[in-house]
Amino acid sequence: MSSELHPDLTLVQSKALRLLFTKLRDKNTSQIDFVRYSKRLMHLLVEDTLVRLPTVEIEKQTPTGLFQGLESTTIPSQTCVVSIMRSGDALLESFREVEPAFKVGKILIQRDEASADKTAQFFYEKVPPGIHKMNVILCDPMVATAGSAVAALDLLCQVKHVDPSQITFATIICATEGLGVLARKYPGVKIVTAAIDEGLNDEKFILPGLGDFGDRFYGT
Ligand code: URA
Repeated sequence: MSSELHPDLTLVQSKALRLLFTKLRDKNTSQIDFVRYSKRLMHLLVEDTLVRLPTVEIEKQTPTGLFQGLESTTIPSQTCVVSIMRSGDALLESFREVEPAFKVGKILIQRDEASADKTAQFFYEKVPPGIHKMNVILCDPMVATAGSAVAALDLLCQVKHVDPSQITFATIICATEGLGVLARKYPGVKIVTAAIDEGLNDEKFILPGLGDFGDRFYGT
């Protein structure tokens, strides 16, 4: 799907997501409820992301008639879910609950909170050998400036030789600023998100956003 913000952007929307977002965005939601509601939301996002991987139209016989269906053609062991730690791990686990055979990659990139533009700093990576031949699902729930996302995509594409067209980036909330950066640097990566928020504050947190996803999910 294309949009003026990014050439391959899917914004998943439903009444159910709106209800779940109402809990997540509420600053008075407890950690346990944040975990509960974000897991429900992430499971919806996971299904909407997986259906963006290759599929074929297929006809199935029901007990009473014919059904025009859709079947995934991806091989789980040839699909790698890569998290941008720490928040990305929560989304990664939702993918693994749906398909435990997915391979896993981890990239630790953190914002330098002391710098004015919150520069992304790379610390660690571990991805499976042969990742350049796999479908890759990159996970980071919150995309603000896209600094971490671009650093992770640079690693995957330039160092690990994954073609951008093999990558689907799953996120919960994207800021328009981050989407603009991704459109310029990685127009060929597919993006799936459940919300697009307008702004960033001086600390580069998304407005209205939901605060720090990792802190609220892990209770730090
Ligand atoms: N990361 C978060 O967890 N929240 C934001 O608003 C931006 C980046």
